[in-house]
Order: sequence, then structure tokens, then C-alpha cells
Amino acid sequence: MSDDCLFCKIAAGKLPAKIVHQDDDVVAFVDIAPQAPTHLLLIPRRHVARTLDLTAEDGPILGRIVEVANRIARERGLEDGFRLVINNGPGAGQTVYHLHVHLLGGRALRWPPG
Ligand code: 5GP
Ligand code: ZN
Repeated sequence: MSDDCLFCKIAAGKLPAKIVHQDDDVVAFVDIAPQAPTHLLLIPRRHVARTLDLTAEDGPILGRIVEVANRIARERGLEDGFRLVINNGPGAGQTVYHLHVHLLGGRALRWPPG
């Protein structure tokens, strides 16, 4: 855990969030400023700032996150279309430096994103 990291605190239960899934490796919670009817953030419990910082030992974590995202998407009937997004770095709009995957769904999603 990184002491000054917002998402580490959420994963540790030290800051409130609407948690929709948690297990030993992955926590999923509702985004505080949702951009779609379903807008969740899925994070590894382990603090990794962004994908550029992933190491070989982190390898399985993105697969686990996608597995959880798929399960939630199916439960919510989003099979017709949902989006998983990882913003990397300031130029891509990353504002929280604990790796997170956005799960967006429940409305038409245009392409390309802004
Ligand atoms: P980024 O721009 O880094 O890809 O996404 C960060 C996301 O975290 C944003 O969508 C923002 O609304 C969300 N967020 C920021 N602070 C909090 C918080 O304290 N709680 C929750 N649930 N979401 C947050
Ligand atoms: Zn963190």
C-alpha cells in the first residue's frame, strides 16, 4: 500500500466507496463522477501507478481484472456493448496514479473517444 494513494485507501477500506466486488487481488467500485449508467473502476489491490510500471510478476492481474469486468458486465446485461479503458499518463487524462480500468456501459459509446 502506498500511504498517500487514494485508491489504496479505498481498497483497504480506509476511504468510503460503493464497492461492487472485492477479492484477494481485485477491487471494483463505482466511479465518483460516473460518465455512463455503469461506470466502475477496477483496480489491483497491489499499488502499481500505471501500466508502464507493471512487472512480469504482475502479469496475471490484468487478466483477473478483465475476468471480473466480464462477470459484472454479464450480470448487468451489458453484453451488447461496454468499454474497458485504461488512461496512461497526463496526456491521456490519467488523474489517479493507481492503475485502474474503467468499465463503462449502459449507453451508446462513440468512437473515437476524445
Ligand atoms: P483517470 O482520469 O485517472 O483515468 O480516472 C480517475 C477516475 O477516478 C475518475 O473517473 C474519477 O471520477 C475517479 N475518482 C477520483 N476520485 C475518486 C474517489 O475518491 N472515489 C471514487 N469512487 N472515484 C474517484
Ligand atoms: Zn495505490
